[in-house]
Amino acid sequence: MLRSSSSKLLNPVTYIKGVGPSRSDLLLKEKGIKSQWDMLLDFPFRHIDRTRFGTIKESADDGFPVQLKGVITHAKIAGTGRGKRLTANFTDGTGSLSLVWFQGVSRIDKMITPGIKVILFGKLSLYNGKKTMAHPEMEIVEDGALPPSQRTGLQPVYSTTEKLSSRGLDARGLRRIIKNICSQLTERDIRETLPKYLLNKLKLIGRYQAFMWIHFPQNQEQLKAARKRLAFEELFVLQLRMLFRMSARKMQLKGFKFDQVGQYFHDYFSKELPFELTRAQKRVIKEIRSDTRTGIQMNRLVQGDVGSGKTIVSVMAMLLAIDNGFQACMMAPTEILATQHYLKISDQLERIGLKATFLSGNVKGKKRKEVLENLREGNIHVLIGTHALIEDWVVFHKLGLVVIDEQHRFGVHQRAKLWKKSGNLPPHVMVMTATPIPRTLAMTLYGDLDISTIDELPPGRKPVKTTRTNDRYRGRLNNFLKSEIAKGRQVYIVYPLIEESSKLDLANLQQGYEDLLGQFPRPQYQIGIVHGKLKAEDKDMEMRKFVEGRTNILVSTTVIEVGVNVPNASVMVIENAERFGLSQLHQLRGRVGRGADQSHCILVTGYKLTKVARKRMEIMCSTNDGFVIAEEDLKIRGPGEIEGTRQSGDIELKVANMAQDGLILQTARKLGKKILEKDPTLSHPVNELLKKIVESDSASRLLGRIG
Ligand code: ADP
Ligand code: MG
Repeated sequence: MLRSSSSKLLNPVTYIKGVGPSRSDLLLKEKGIKSQWDMLLDFPFRHIDRTRFGTIKESADDGFPVQLKGVITHAKIAGTGRGKRLTANFTDGTGSLSLVWFQGVSRIDKMITPGIKVILFGKLSLYNGKKTMAHPEMEIVEDGALPPSQRTGLQPVYSTTEKLSSRGLDARGLRRIIKNICSQLTERDIRETLPKYLLNKLKLIGRYQAFMWIHFPQNQEQLKAARKRLAFEELFVLQLRMLFRMSARKMQLKGFKFDQVGQYFHDYFSKELPFELTRAQKRVIKEIRSDTRTGIQMNRLVQGDVGSGKTIVSVMAMLLAIDNGFQACMMAPTEILATQHYLKISDQLERIGLKATFLSGNVKGKKRKEVLENLREGNIHVLIGTHALIEDWVVFHKLGLVVIDEQHRFGVHQRAKLWKKSGNLPPHVMVMTATPIPRTLAMTLYGDLDISTIDELPPGRKPVKTTRTNDRYRGRLNNFLKSEIAKGRQVYIVYPLIEESSKLDLANLQQGYEDLLGQFPRPQYQIGIVHGKLKAEDKDMEMRKFVEGRTNILVSTTVIEVGVNVPNASVMVIENAERFGLSQLHQLRGRVGRGADQSHCILVTGYKLTKVARKRMEIMCSTNDGFVIAEEDLKIRGPGEIEGTRQSGDIELKVANMAQDGLILQTARKLGKKILEKDPTLSHPVNELLKKIVESDSASRLLGRIG
């Protein structure tokens, strides 16, 4: 096979002038750089504007580099041996500056003659009271002609390390090497990866140009154009690969066909639905209907803020399955949640003539045998439970739909297990999450799931009032709690427990509980306590007491975070709120505001907060919108750390930024979709380049192909 010319980029860095074996070892160790291509992919993290010149008069020893234009008036070599140095005097008409070199003395001495015009770049220092620049970057200005481009444009700054710097590979050394590589490249070396029609449509510059300009732009416009092009490429490659996978899956993966809306769906809709569905709920149900009609397996993520009414949507979906002769199941992450769902749903279903049953690890012996038998026989229409549902001994008669509530507690692995429960074809899967993921991130992480969003709360909800307080106002806080309890309301008090084993946190919780017992004496007040160290039965019992209104205050760790519904609880107190992440705070707050009463969330913090913590508190106090909060969270923390998304942190973006490039991402996805709709296999000649993108599947390196 002919080696393409681009393969010279795959040469080790030792091929480059100035990089010997020891420097190349160091580059590998410190930055993982092996080839020239790796070097080129090591984009600068910022640029210094070298289109502007300063003056000696206005420059100070403030640590910032300055660019000066002027004349060297005289130079001389002083000292001998190790003390040998070259000093020179430089003036730009506003003042004079001493220059000094300790290395390369004779080389530089040869370059400069008195009266020579130069451009200098470096940091000023004061030496014996005189403005001095040591080892400036210097370029000689030829008479009249403009000097090489590097001097003017924006100068790249590369990240370096102590070790690299000590071997001459500081920002300047790295710049020199990359400059060297760039100067030898042509369009043939960095080939275009995007079709012309896309470049034209989006007004993107070519790939070679983008690589040159991301390193050595002449001005901000070039830098912007380069960034835009590369960010688009990155996100487009990511999206196209996912979309391609998804459409390939859809072409292959047959699913059950729910082609009718029948009696059960109608009965429920007309008789059992206690309220008008929101527009968002209707839309999502429609999306599910059109998915399940196609004969292709549905994999849909339904995201909606806490209280947005996901449960009803899932019930309607299950009825659709039943109307078409299938069973459905619903899986929740905890026994408490599963029980709640069961209690709520089973009555409604029974009234329209359907049978729902509960199953968890705690359903044992004869009872379990009975459930399993009825399930296999098809006498049970809906099975609701915990992850016991995915055990091998659970066998369905004809499972058509699986609903998974609060998805981030379930791994992909567990989901896959469910697939095997319905014979030849996998059941449709609907995953529900109350952790809103910013659209941009969702598109990236769940690019191969379809996403429905319930972006509307049922009418008449009173937004939770959120305030911040601290220990000094403990007395006032307790009085407030007493007045709410006097109105018949219930209170959550949540303590942070980052790791269930953290002794200090547990002691903190215990202390808080005991203080409360002093302030809220029995028998007038009943206080329950729940944490991960309790036995499951005890935990359930405490929860149940609270759900049934037998306790006024529930002290707990974040075990109550997910999904629990106690409409009568109207106050959420979060202790050490600064220790929680935004989305967790929002989840906790979602436990209140479920009834008709005005609800409150009170964030108790320390006196001194970090800037980020203060920002989090401000956001919490200013909005109830989970999507806004998720966006803010993304800005503060970065995509890798958003709760519930950690398992997919293998996406490495070099140029694009999830928090800022949402628009580019959306464009990338839209275009990807359009292209695949027209040409699902990407076999049209104009899409030849795109075919290459989806075939080369190095997920972590989106800009990785040379061409
Ligand atoms: P989540 O999305 O957090 O799971 P739920 O499904 O538990 O929310 O719904 C929260 C509450 O809102 C429930 O009490 C439910 O009955 C009620 N609800 C759901 N949809 C509507 C609606 N369209 N109008 C009024 N109340 C609704
Ligand atoms: Mg729910």
